[in-house]
Amino acid sequence: MGFNALIVEKDEEGKTSASVQEITEDRLPAGDVTVAVDFSTVNYKDGLCVGPGGGLVRAYPHVPGIDFAGTVEASSDDRYKPGDKVVLTGWRVGEAHWGGYAQKARVKADWLVPLPEGLTTRQAMAVGTAGFTAMLAVMALEDHGLKTGNGPVLVTGAAGGVGSVATAILAAKGYEVAGVTGRPETENYLKSLGASQIVPREEINETNKRPLESESWSGCVDAVGGAMLARVLGQMKYGASVAAVGLAGGAALPATVIPFLLRGINLLGIDSVMQPYENRVRAWGEIARHLPMSKLDEMVQPATLADLPKLGRDILKGQVKGRVVVDVN
Ligand code: NDP
Repeated sequence: MGFNALIVEKDEEGKTSASVQEITEDRLPAGDVTVAVDFSTVNYKDGLCVGPGGGLVRAYPHVPGIDFAGTVEASSDDRYKPGDKVVLTGWRVGEAHWGGYAQKARVKADWLVPLPEGLTTRQAMAVGTAGFTAMLAVMALEDHGLKTGNGPVLVTGAAGGVGSVATAILAAKGYEVAGVTGRPETENYLKSLGASQIVPREEINETNKRPLESESWSGCVDAVGGAMLARVLGQMKYGASVAAVGLAGGAALPATVIPFLLRGINLLGIDSVMQPYENRVRAWGEIARHLPMSKLDEMVQPATLADLPKLGRDILKGQVKGRVVVDVN
């Protein structure tokens, strides 16, 4: 029986195009678990994989979708049986391996985690890779001493996927949150997620000649990188940590080492793709415990497979607000 998938093809001139096509199961890649996908999402990387590829896609034709949640249909691995609800993020699925923009996916059992108790498959994908990574960032900051009552935690790219979930989690945990956004119209949205302060992007987007400014932030979840991250390093409180998650504003880091040497600032790298299983289960458990589902609902816009080519372009332009949940059925 056929099923629908978003297939990205590349022509002889190297131009990619994406369309919804009916395909059969024999075209799925090798793997020990076949999953009937309920929902997927749109992350920044998906924008690259639906569109130009960004050096991430290994071979065409390709099915993107770096995360999905659904129900096991067949399994040759003892850990999973038909009917089990599962979530997948990372492991280069949707890049090097066919991903979640299809009604079925076949993957390695090692890549899956059981759907966390208390979440539906739709909620898990409202969180998705972006929200999972936001939780990893908050966990890393707390593991390095972040505590409530020390002043605001900065979230950059606040109205995006990582930023929205980070804002909601931090606020729910009792932190004061300052959100950096380039979209002033998202102020009410960010305040509804729990931000108490909005920092306009232009205030913090350029390198400052002074390597140290006044100590403003007790921690930072940074989805932007580039000049903004460099600037933020010089604004952190003594001994505070910045979790570097993303590069929406650029991969270069035009910084000095002065904040590390004179203020003991820590720069913590966050990778969601190769996280070990135990830490994945821990992060999903923390999400189920700390992310208020009413706030998650506020972030979500629904979509279908046919909407993905446009949404892919939008997220690369920084025009997606919050999280997109793709109902593949
Ligand atoms: P989104 O596009 O949803 O969010 C990014 C946000 O950054 C935008 O919404 C915008 O927020 C801000 N932004 C965009 N362009 C610029 C710019 N030029 N300068 C300053 N700010 C900008 O993407 P995601 O939340 O899905 O991902 C965010 C980043 O995190 C990406 O770089 C992604 O690759 C990375 N990422 C990394 C992971 C990891 O494992 N390390 C996992 C998941 C994501 P606003 O409009 O509020 O200013």
